[in-house]
Amino acid sequence: MSATVLVLNSGSSSVKFALYDPEREQELLSGIAERVGTPRASATIRLPDGERELTDLGDGDHQAVLSRVLSGLGDWLDEQGHHIAAVGHRLVHGGERFHSSVVLDEETLAAVRDCIPLAPLHNPANIAGVEAAQQVLPEVPQVGVFDTAFHQTMPAHAYRYAVPPEWYSDLGVRRYGFHGTSHRYVSQRAAEFLDRPLAELRMITAHLGNGCSLTAIRDGVSVDTSMGLTPLEGVVMGTRSGDVDPGVPGYVQDRTGAELEQITLDLNKRSGLLGLSGVSNDMREIRAAADDGDPDARLALEVFGYRLAKYIAALAVATEGVDVLVFTGGIGENDTQIRAEVLQRLGFLGLRLDSGANDALRGEPGVITTEDSPVTALVIPTDEELVIARDAHQLTTEADR
Ligand code: ADP
Repeated sequence: MSATVLVLNSGSSSVKFALYDPEREQELLSGIAERVGTPRASATIRLPDGERELTDLGDGDHQAVLSRVLSGLGDWLDEQGHHIAAVGHRLVHGGERFHSSVVLDEETLAAVRDCIPLAPLHNPANIAGVEAAQQVLPEVPQVGVFDTAFHQTMPAHAYRYAVPPEWYSDLGVRRYGFHGTSHRYVSQRAAEFLDRPLAELRMITAHLGNGCSLTAIRDGVSVDTSMGLTPLEGVVMGTRSGDVDPGVPGYVQDRTGAELEQITLDLNKRSGLLGLSGVSNDMREIRAAADDGDPDARLALEVFGYRLAKYIAALAVATEGVDVLVFTGGIGENDTQIRAEVLQRLGFLGLRLDSGANDALRGEPGVITTEDSPVTALVIPTDEELVIARDAHQLTTEADR
């Protein structure tokens, strides 16, 4: 029997899962359960020989879904000689408590619960996934991998907000940062790709997906990042505003009488590329509209690119100069135009675009600057699930030793 790692990314209404062979670092299957928490929950499992659809998922809660997915896979696992030796969970917020991934036991899970006020939408769903896995696979060790952990190395001057001190001491109001698993992975892969020690590179990583964030990396660790207490801070994203004047919510409230909750929702769900373009939160659709001459779509792209370049330049303060700039995430890996625009805007930092190389790279790793460019920019496809599988494997086999 070969030991595999189940990776779970549990949201409130969907659960993404994948099974890894940790020795070969190979994904064996993946899938998604949707409408979780409703009687209409369903799951799709993508196996090498095709897809399986599961519809009768009981009452559809996290436990029912996981139990049904695993029983639906039982014959395949047996046939392949696989068993699940560890479960790795993506956990959104680890507060100041978690600096790295952790084996989940009663004590560490209680500490993850303590972080619920910091991520009231995400952590409860993540925890529901952990509890479901504990019920369905009681003998199998569980590991938590946090979006925030990589950024716990930020110095206080980067993570503190200039606000009343008890907001920090009593409420934990500070910058935490997110997408840490992705920033950690692509920074390591970029150094490997360039065959240079990560510790010697002053690096900025740009994770540009539906959510977008940047991280400044020095000596191999995060020294600053664009997201803050919540994933709303920083650059423009698909539906999130990124930085706005903190006076905006109060102003909108005064003028419209809207509840703060609604305004926060608008900043998270109706802003960003969607808000500016009025077309979509999806980069491909915005590009298509801009190409058709839609002025709002064009403006959305301009604001996105300008703010991105501006933030990268700001993070160069944290790294005290830049050696390497990395693009990742759906937009960073595929959108050749945004990469070209950012590099052109940042020419003064020493980035020289290789247009041919840039235009040719979609979804694969590669360098997009010229050989004589003082700063190297490259594309590195991210793989957060692989990191979760690796961490879960490492922590649970270490525990065995
Ligand atoms: P998530 O953050 O949900 O994991 P992704 O990393 O998949 O999201 O990124 C989604 C974004 O990537 C969307 O804005 C999508 O339009 C964009 N994207 C995906 N493929 C392309 C492409 N070929 N060209 C431009 N943008 C793309």
